Amino acid sequence: MIELKSLYKTYSPGLFKKKVPAVRGLSLEINHGDVIGLVGPNGAGKSTTIRMLLGLIRPDRGSISFRGVPLKDADIQYDIGYLPENPYLYDHLTLEELLAFSGRASGLSSAETKKRGGELMEKLAMTEARKRPLRTFSKGMLQRAGICFALLHDPSVVILDEPMSGLDPVGRKMVFDLVTDLKGQGKTIFFCSHILNDVERLCDRIGLMVGGRLLRVLKREDFAAHGEASLHLVVNRLGEQELSGLHPLLSDIAEESGRHVLSFPAKSLTAVSEQLHALNVEVLASRSDRLSLEEMFMQAVEENR
Ligand code: ADP
Repeated sequence: MIELKSLYKTYSPGLFKKKVPAVRGLSLEINHGDVIGLVGPNGAGKSTTIRMLLGLIRPDRGSISFRGVPLKDADIQYDIGYLPENPYLYDHLTLEELLAFSGRASGLSSAETKKRGGELMEKLAMTEARKRPLRTFSKGMLQRAGICFALLHDPSVVILDEPMSGLDPVGRKMVFDLVTDLKGQGKTIFFCSHILNDVERLCDRIGLMVGGRLLRVLKREDFAAHGEASLHLVVNRLGEQELSGLHPLLSDIAEESGRHVLSFPAKSLTAVSEQLHALNVEVLASRSDRLSLEEMFMQAVEENR
């Protein structure tokens, strides 16, 4: 769907100011129906990547193609919906007027605009506020209004820059459900966020970006819980008889400071828990071999300091 090939972008802020290399050699393929998240610390180059992808700025080197056509020749306006990080919206307009304007600009009939706009406002709990000028909106409401604006023309590719930023837990849940919904409709979604938990739950692939470089692209099986990971439970030392009942389920039993550490594949968790419950054994601590996304993220940042 979208191919980014060896992209480089350096900003030149002014005559005597230092140049800022924002993106350095980034390549990524985004396929139809992919949900891809870009994570990285502030200044990693995520927004610059998105701006290049939208054709708002040109890369110094490298190429971008959209459905096999070079970006500059592709007609992406109707295909892409974009939510900027701080959506600048016309603050004297009401949300209803903003959507009417956006609908006309995208070639929708007023009946289509009303129908789609109504559905989106309903999903994002904005119906009540639709006749209020945007300048009276809170940050979270503006963010949700920006999402209605980005999705009105039912684009097949949705690009969201920090869609959860500035939202309270209720607002975050609404946006989360909406993205899940879009995913279910087979939309291609590309977004950046620093809220790792959301990225982890929504994405099929996650790109870790640090210092302008895309260091790793993790697939779902790299970061989601899966049957192959080992789990370890720490319990008070068990007797022979208790151990014999557990034996068939365990991959290893070790002794550690007078306690037993029981290791087993994650898929056996229910069976092991039931057995421990039946034996009235208390679990003192648990750990998993799997690195969390946060740990992987911190590791990548540390290694590239
Ligand atoms: P992120 O979205 O990951 O926070 P950005 O893409 O916004 O990162 O920024 C990457 C780097 O480029 C940062 O060092 C930032 O200060 C710099 N930068 C971004 N936009 C500009 C600009 N218009 N002019 C100069 N430097 C910029």
